Amino acid sequence: MVIQLPEKVKYIIDTLMEAGYEAYAVGGCIRDSILGRKPGDWDITTSARPMQVKQLFKKTIDTGIQHGTVTVMISGEGFEVTTYRIDGEYEDGRHPKEVRFTASLFEDLKRRDFTINAMAYNEKDGLVDAFFGRRDLEERVIRCVGNPKERFEEDALRMMRAIRFAAQLGFSIEEGTKDAIAELADNLSKVSAERIQVELVKLLVSNHPGEFMTAYETGLTRVFLPEFDAMIATPQNNKHHCYNVGKHTIEAVKNSPPDKVIRLTMLLHDVAKPVCKSIDEEGIYHFYGHPAKGAQMAKEILKRLKFDNDTIRKVCALIKSHDDMPPLEPKAIRRAIFRTGLEQYPALFAVKRADALGKNQYQRAEKMAYIEGYQKLYEEILEKQQCLTLKDLAVTGKDLIEAGMKPGKELGETLEKLLEHVLEYPQDNQKEILINLIKKIKI
Ligand code: ATP
Ligand code: MG
Repeated sequence: MVIQLPEKVKYIIDTLMEAGYEAYAVGGCIRDSILGRKPGDWDITTSARPMQVKQLFKKTIDTGIQHGTVTVMISGEGFEVTTYRIDGEYEDGRHPKEVRFTASLFEDLKRRDFTINAMAYNEKDGLVDAFFGRRDLEERVIRCVGNPKERFEEDALRMMRAIRFAAQLGFSIEEGTKDAIAELADNLSKVSAERIQVELVKLLVSNHPGEFMTAYETGLTRVFLPEFDAMIATPQNNKHHCYNVGKHTIEAVKNSPPDKVIRLTMLLHDVAKPVCKSIDEEGIYHFYGHPAKGAQMAKEILKRLKFDNDTIRKVCALIKSHDDMPPLEPKAIRRAIFRTGLEQYPALFAVKRADALGKNQYQRAEKMAYIEGYQKLYEEILEKQQCLTLKDLAVTGKDLIEAGMKPGKELGETLEKLLEHVLEYPQDNQKEILINLIKKIKI
């Protein structure tokens, strides 16, 4: 097995080896290289202690000295170099209480989560594969190094990681490993929301986001997103749907582009359906108000999962508007864009398409044609550079004051009225016309 190491990685490994230490590229980069995927980053593992690593390179950063990690900078690019270590006992499944450095590569590989992540490589020794990682890559399975129950008890996040890797690689999770997740799922509650968020996002934006169902089936969603379990338990007896809310949700996620905001939106777009459900006298299910209520619930959920405000704002705005169906006339679309916020486009179209594709065939073609028409009008409006926000209005507050208005609340209201007018009559977005208009309607 020959792996083409990047020049800078080779240089770091050679420098460490010439100084008498062992050094290998390790983990994800080896896995991805064997698979023919482009590695995200190249991590290096070495027998040298952090201080010894620091002495060998001109520029280093103390990334996690206490865990043995030093970032070596090579012409502006950083590489994490970590000393061989044995993770000590884990405190409450959270983080290792202590890490012990070791002189043994084998020990370092043994502490790693999955066999496919526990391989090391350098040019001198070739591939070091003590736990049959290559076989598992060939068989396309995620399998713990050692006893899965023990490994998940040490660090419960590994259960989320198993599902995330299965989703990224299109692998299945080995039976014993999956059984252990189902058995220990509740332990995930000891893991910080920040760490869960990282794995959740990687799972969602992967090529196989449908793997999310494994998180449900093994009981993990019950811990980090119990709202999803409620969605699975909510059937939708109406003409649009063939799935329960949860299954529809996953179909919608699968039919959306791999973008963080869009996939989170799909995951949560119907989150309020369980609480908004009503059944009419004919037994048909309705979910009145679920977009607005869903946006509210999503805000709480995303906050709980420690997402940043920018992501929360975008996802909630898209959820709130996901069911809007403005008439396909330019002025109605301009109003819709203003109401929804220009920033949510064109993502909203991807959301609406994914939602439609997650439903049954009923009026599928009509629904898709509607979205197409909506998008076409939106694009024409942009092309004509028509006014869509207060910022685009041909008059400013200052202009109104110069025309004799007093500063204050009324000024803002007048600007909004003018915007409403211009959304209807775009050709009127000219300073003179607008000022005259104000004079006409008094003030
Ligand atoms: P990615 O491509 O997402 O970066 P990766 O395999 O590099 O995938 P990282 O989270 O960057 O994943 O971790 C690097 C390596 O460290 C892993 O390949 C694995 O060997 C080890 N590792 C990371 N997290 C854990 C963990 N919680 N328990 C055990 N080993 C871990
Ligand atoms: Mg990595």
